[in-house]
Amino acid sequence: LPESRLYQSNDKSPLQIFVRAKKKINDIYGEIEEYVHETTTFINALHAEAEIVDKAERELFESYVYKVAAIREVLQRDHMKVAFFGRTSNGKSSVINAMLREKILPSGIGHTTNCFCQVEGSNGGEAYLMTEGSEEKLNVVNIKQLANALCQEKLCESSLVRIFWPRERCSLLRDDVVFVDSPGVDVSANLDDWIDNHCLNADVFVLVLNAESTMTRAEKQFFHTVSQKLSKPNIFILNNRWDASANEPECQESVKSQHTERCIDFLTKELKVSNEKEAAERVFFVSARETLQARIEEAKGNPPHMGAIAEGFQIRYFEFQDFERKFEECISQSAVKTKFQQHSSRGKSVSGDMKSMLDNIYERITIFRNLKQDQKNLLTERIQGTETQMMQVTREMKMKIHNMVEEVEEKVSKALNE
Ligand code: GDP
Repeated sequence: LPESRLYQSNDKSPLQIFVRAKKKINDIYGEIEEYVHETTTFINALHAEAEIVDKAERELFESYVYKVAAIREVLQRDHMKVAFFGRTSNGKSSVINAMLREKILPSGIGHTTNCFCQVEGSNGGEAYLMTEGSEEKLNVVNIKQLANALCQEKLCESSLVRIFWPRERCSLLRDDVVFVDSPGVDVSANLDDWIDNHCLNADVFVLVLNAESTMTRAEKQFFHTVSQKLSKPNIFILNNRWDASANEPECQESVKSQHTERCIDFLTKELKVSNEKEAAERVFFVSARETLQARIEEAKGNPPHMGAIAEGFQIRYFEFQDFERKFEECISQSAVKTKFQQHSSRGKSVSGDMKSMLDNIYERITIFRNLKQDQKNLLTERIQGTETQMMQVTREMKMKIHNMVEEVEEKVSKALNE
């Protein structure tokens, strides 16, 4: 791939809000980890020297080491997650491929996705897939093999296949966006399980509709359940296959306004997840297949319109790009809030707890030091007293000896004289 294509979404991308926030919070946690380690070493030494810190306290400090390490691990894995829903064949896989700028997920007749497929970035240029419950990395040699793997009967519809695709192949993967494709909402009765297993941590939901028909009850029901379980989910609606409308230009505008009105009503009046203004910014008319073709042409160095399917390509292409921009803004802001707000308040509480424990220990050390000083003073006084006593005794002894010597001398000289 040409270099320019690899990093075309530059640092002006709204996704950078998340990327930078992630780097910053990781750096801060790196510092907290150092601080926790240092403090624990200090506390352990303090315990060994003088028993100012008890066992329970030492254990509490050590528990912070593990807590911070666990948060750091979660932080490194945090990503932005977008999940796609809609009826079979509305074009969910095609939308994901168009956004990834490459045909990664199999799409089309005979390639119905039987299970959940997650596409995420891999490091080191490797492409592989992993099925649920297995650590084995299955090499992805080509799209056909991937398609066959995904069509296997034995895959349960609510199980997850993770597709790892080289980060450097797509800026969205590089910036930590994870895509989840779902089986059609028309084929499952286990919507509750789906939501519990795959949706609760999604930052954005994309409902892919077929612009050639109206929204079905199954599609609506799914999002009703989602919005019962999550407070105000971020939902985008793509009216896909809009290229088909080019065949009927006379009713294009009326169909568009009818769909728009229904979609806005659904988001505002039925789900009550956004107001009219926000909802109007969440509904788009696109052609995923055409966008993907255009991008494949662009990658070859050709002009994008070589991928056009029908009249009016440019408008649909712009609309897809507009969707991507709004999607990027929404997902990065939402992910920063949901993922990092929690970590930052936990970080604050860990450092707050440690500070108050250290203050407490410091107070105890001060009292201990004063006590030692008092003891020292007392001892010094005693020593001084003893010294004076000793001096006096010594002086008395000296006198006694002196007197005795004089007495003996006197006695001796007297005896000699006699
Ligand atoms: P999914 O089952 O929702 O994942 O749908 P797919 O992405 O597999 O698409 C089903 C079929 O519709 C494929 O043959 C696609 O090429 C085709 N398709 C998808 N998007 C469009 C589109 O915007 N316009 C047209 N004309 N065909 C599309």
